[in-house]
Amino acid sequence: MNKPLWEAYALRYATVQRRRLENFIFHDLHDMATNMDYYVWFLKNDKETILIDTGFNKTAAKARKRNHLRCPIESLNQSGIKVEDLSDVIITHAHYDHAGNTDLLKKTRFHIQESEMSYATGPDMRHAFCRHAYDPHDICELIYANFEDRVRFHNGVYELRPGIEVHLVGGHTKGLQIVRVHTKRGWIVIASDAAHYLENFKNHSPFPIVLNTSDMLSGFELIKDLAESPEHVIAGHDPLTMSLYKRTGKSDLEIVSLIDPL
Ligand SMILES: [Zn+2]
Repeated sequence: MNKPLWEAYALRYATVQRRRLENFIFHDLHDMATNMDYYVWFLKNDKETILIDTGFNKTAAKARKRNHLRCPIESLNQSGIKVEDLSDVIITHAHYDHAGNTDLLKKTRFHIQESEMSYATGPDMRHAFCRHAYDPHDICELIYANFEDRVRFHNGVYELRPGIEVHLVGGHTKGLQIVRVHTKRGWIVIASDAAHYLENFKNHSPFPIVLNTSDMLSGFELIKDLAESPEHVIAGHDPLTMSLYKRTGKSDLEIVSLIDPL
């Protein structure tokens, strides 16, 4: 049966300059500067909007020396999406750059893999290596949301709506999930940090922040299997997203339509 069609968008909300060696375990000797962009993504039909990840706020940006361009949640409001009407938000993983700002979404139900939540609240967080990209305030917000019955925990694959699926990958974190969405362009995969850059995915070249390299490498294969083509893969932090797709919406917000490649 044909699945319903969704629109898909990326909204850039922050950026930082890094070096290539920070992005690839195997890197060439010509180590160059390269940007890392920060996005949230959202899926729309004529009835509702599903948000994927919630970004971070100004305070977190300052603490981690990121260039905060805009509040992603406020930006959604400005682009005509009533944030208070968001019923479901997918959290790909609970790192600070994906799971902040949830205090602004007091009625929303969050979808996260059970293994991600148990990892982020479990004994591994005593290790600086494991907890570095987590902010305990974000994790506590998710715990509060759970106490209000606003968290759905998934184990592996889950169909959130006809045409929207989450798939467990792990690798980068214990319970990282990716999102597969049916669009008029075909099946798109929003890989989040299963592929920080398209180059990580295309060359099967792991990103250095990795909990389980084997799962990250298998994740590249899963992304390829789930996407219509490699051109249907949306990387988590790649500045290329802004140049590969058509700008849409208000000009002062950096939103691109993932169903309109340039
Ligand atoms: Zn990230």
